[in-house]
Amino acid sequence: MAALCALGTALTACATVQPPQQRPRPAPSSPAVRSSPPTLAPGPSGLTPVFRNGPRTPGDKAVALTFDADMTADQGPRAAAGERFDHPRLIAALRTLEVPATVFMTGRWAEEYPDQARSIGRDPLFEVANHSYSHYAFTAGCHGLPTVPADRMRADVERAYTAFREVGVEDPMPYFRFPGGCYDRVALRALTPTGVTAVQWDVVGGDAFATDAEAVARQVLDGVRPGSVVVLHCTRSAAPTTERAVRTIVPELRRRGYRFVKVSELIGAADGRG
Ligand SMILES: [Zn+2]
Repeated sequence: MAALCALGTALTACATVQPPQQRPRPAPSSPAVRSSPPTLAPGPSGLTPVFRNGPRTPGDKAVALTFDADMTADQGPRAAAGERFDHPRLIAALRTLEVPATVFMTGRWAEEYPDQARSIGRDPLFEVANHSYSHYAFTAGCHGLPTVPADRMRADVERAYTAFREVGVEDPMPYFRFPGGCYDRVALRALTPTGVTAVQWDVVGGDAFATDAEAVARQVLDGVRPGSVVVLHCTRSAAPTTERAVRTIVPELRRRGYRFVKVSELIGAADGRG
């Protein structure tokens, strides 16, 4: 069983759908999402919109670090046996460094680590977004992950929002990251009623199963441009170097004139551009 998406190959494995015309849209209609942060307008035929990166503004070098808190629905026995899918030192480092970040959390992760989920969700430094309940794939052939049938996709996303609320995350964002980054038109259509904006990335940190923090840091530093969305992980068993990589990445990007923002700020800036 794949514990974590092999994100290094996700970009080639997945379909590409560009964001549609970017203008504000009404608050999501799903009762699962109460807040109304910026989202993208739906794509053609009302498909769930896909966000990849913010404006490439050289004069305002914003970058969003995102951390996927992966735990798959069937990994409970492994957690019970001592495997740690959380990464408290990483969250502590982000707080020490005062780095805003977006955490794409699975519902299963929130259930396993309710105190941490609540703490992250209530810290204004962070925003919690949806990475599905089960961390099962929304297309076939996605890094060996089990697959969610199309008629269960919406329920899987809404179940994650329910899990967040149950542990005390009151305002999860209407943003969804597909497990493994894998999606197609069927998946985008299935999620339309939830009102989420799908969030991909333009910089792969490569921290999944990495053992060399410096290599992860280098890959991020080589890839970041203004408006970038960087995907990393908040799962210490499968991404043990991420905290150390972040301690290199953050000061260097600040030295280069970058400021760290949450995904919502980049999406809001994309809205304003249209
Ligand atoms: Zn994931």
